[in-house]
Amino acid sequence: MQGVVIKSTGSWYSVRIHNGNCFLCRLKGKFRMKGIKSTNPVSVGDQVLFSRQGKDFIINDILERKNYIVRKSVNLSKQVHIIAANIDQAFLIVTSAFPKTSVGFIDRFLVTAEAYQIPTVLVFNKIDLHDKSHLESHKEMISLYRQCGYECIEVSAIKNKNIKELMLKMKEKVNLLSGHSGVGKSTLVNAINPNLDLLTKSVSKTHNKGMHTTTFAEMFALDFGGFIIDTPGIKGLGLVDIDPQELSNYFPEMLKIKSQCRFHNCKHINEPSCAVKEALNTGEVNRIRYDSYLSILDDDNNSYREAKYH
Ligand code: GDP
Ligand code: ZN
Repeated sequence: MQGVVIKSTGSWYSVRIHNGNCFLCRLKGKFRMKGIKSTNPVSVGDQVLFSRQGKDFIINDILERKNYIVRKSVNLSKQVHIIAANIDQAFLIVTSAFPKTSVGFIDRFLVTAEAYQIPTVLVFNKIDLHDKSHLESHKEMISLYRQCGYECIEVSAIKNKNIKELMLKMKEKVNLLSGHSGVGKSTLVNAINPNLDLLTKSVSKTHNKGMHTTTFAEMFALDFGGFIIDTPGIKGLGLVDIDPQELSNYFPEMLKIKSQCRFHNCKHINEPSCAVKEALNTGEVNRIRYDSYLSILDDDNNSYREAKYH
């Protein structure tokens, strides 16, 4: 049988098949994935083949992953923990006020998502709270990201505004939801699929009580088709090592023009005839995003560790 892993404890895996039935499976003996040193061979989102062996259901094989997100293992520095696999898209929930989500946080998330090749939609929540004084900076933020090619949806979880649009986007897909606490993620999940809210909350609670910070993501089936992945305790998208030379590949508006720089290995800092720096003058590259670029370049080792998201 084939199914998708929706929950894992490290020794047991809950595998859901096409009709919605779930099977508790174990892994057969020693199971290793080629080419990746991870503390968990199978993660949430993995497509697996399993069969009955005596009283047990055993996972025999894992289908190739389209993508996966990782974080560094707590104890073994060379190993990673796979948080989730086969993600179709991420929804980063942000607020342009109450409280304002920082551009630095958003850009780090987007860079990591680009590196993982996960398309990201920015969801601006709490738009019901905007009065005249917030509206201008809200519109600026939205236009900044739209200009870079990111889809932005403005919603109000509380007033049920544009929630249908969000649901349509999520339908039949594996959707990762992320955002700082307080942006309204739980309220939004509740608006999208009322009976999921409690579930996601209980997951966070159990994990917060844990002895250490090992985090297992969990996948929830949406009543209207598709899944959402909740990653309790993970603020961003986990860890990615990016070569400083490649960082601008993960800023779509820079990627578009960087071939016009005089030097093929231009870092767009102070090289002559740099198309990116020229684009700053025309506005094609926004100064705010460029500042994020510089600040990410500046990060220690250019590793976007979770701590950086706080
Ligand atoms: P989470 O930490 O991201 O899960 O955030 P919650 O869902 O717990 O929401 C944080 C606070 O923001 C709560 O007081 C919610 O009632 C409030 N909130 C969430 N969504 C909205 C919204 O669309 N409009 C307004 N005005 N408040 C909201
Ligand atoms: Zn350049």
